[in-house]
Amino acid sequence: MVYYNEIIEKSYEHKKEGDDSVFVTRASSYEDKELRRAVEAIVDAAGGWDEVSPPERPVLVKPNLMAAREPSRAVTTHPALIRVLGELLAARGRDVIIGDSPAGVARGIKRVWEITGAAEAARAAGARLVSFEAEGSVPRPVKSRFVEEVRVTRFCDEATVIGLAKLKTHFLTILTGAVKNCLGVIPGLAKAELHRRAPHPDDFAELLVDLIPALAPRFSFVDGVVGLEGDGPASGDARNFGLVVGGYNAAAVDAVLAHIVGFAPDDVPTVKLSIERGLTPRAPDIILLDAKYSDLVFDDVATPGSLWVKHLPRPLLRFAGRQFIIKPAVKADKCTGCERCVESCPVGAARMVDGVAEIDASKCIECLCCYETCADDAVYLKPSRVARLYYALRDFRHRRRRLRA
Ligand code: SF4
Ligand code: SF4
Repeated sequence: MVYYNEIIEKSYEHKKEGDDSVFVTRASSYEDKELRRAVEAIVDAAGGWDEVSPPERPVLVKPNLMAAREPSRAVTTHPALIRVLGELLAARGRDVIIGDSPAGVARGIKRVWEITGAAEAARAAGARLVSFEAEGSVPRPVKSRFVEEVRVTRFCDEATVIGLAKLKTHFLTILTGAVKNCLGVIPGLAKAELHRRAPHPDDFAELLVDLIPALAPRFSFVDGVVGLEGDGPASGDARNFGLVVGGYNAAAVDAVLAHIVGFAPDDVPTVKLSIERGLTPRAPDIILLDAKYSDLVFDDVATPGSLWVKHLPRPLLRFAGRQFIIKPAVKADKCTGCERCVESCPVGAARMVDGVAEIDASKCIECLCCYETCADDAVYLKPSRVARLYYALRDFRHRRRRLRA
């Protein structure tokens, strides 16, 4: 369904901060030349480097380094894109800082940097890779029924922030892109506390939208070269979208990402709410740079199981919500007893028993912090019988579609 106001192909005025347009360009691989062209094209359309990153300030590049997973898993922002953006900024004289605070990062951020490739990317770009936990934080007021203030890395005050998110479908928030990426500027376990205060997925989406005015970067890029489809944030399948997306308005960027993966704006709670609050137009203008409209429409993306539940008639929703449960569980033989999951759990549902983690399903609010935190793949998502049936049907539909193609 095409619901966008305007598709501007060639002639457009160069944009500046405050504009809601979303820039989309192709990049079929993480090859250096392609990424440079893609980033330069977006920045040029957005008004140039001085508009995206004012010259007098350092710049904080904020990738999605959700967990210690290799780049091939498509769970984190690809290091080649981190490096290229860092190099291009450094070439214009910017002091480049790179940082993120994944869930449960209190221990082991260096491992995350090494395994995601961020450490090598920062070295190659001559950028400083920083731990938000070690560097101090500053308060930011928030208008929300859940919190009045959050503490963010001090670099939010001292530098221009550029988001570098990953395009993924997500079991809890349906989509993760520019808006959810903002959360990582909050150091340490304070993020888990936000899950505790807003345990229901709709409440959490509301909180994420409440946080946009306080946390949104000046400009957001999204790595959609290879994204993730299905039950992200970590266990979906890599999907080659071949796109890099950018924009000043993180909420507008996510509205376009939703369109790209084939979701209606109302399917994604953060997008729906952002539209209702006037944070983004329902149909932001898309500026296509070296891309055709057909390059950005994917109608066969595997959706997260939770989206299926949302489409049921209301009377069935309460019942199905209880039946369609996917809870984290622990594979005892893989658990190394590191206790990261226990530290990250906001409600005390994860605990250690005889040196092995255990999850109390009756207490679990399904925030997935333990799942994102476990570096040993010991936490997995265990579907209920109804959920398993749904996946079997979905896989069958996909196989049939592939056979026909
Ligand atoms: S499940 Fe085991 S290995 Fe994974 S984070 Fe928890 S304690 Fe560590
Ligand atoms: S056990 Fe449940 S509540 Fe605790 S971190 Fe994991 S998903 Fe969140």
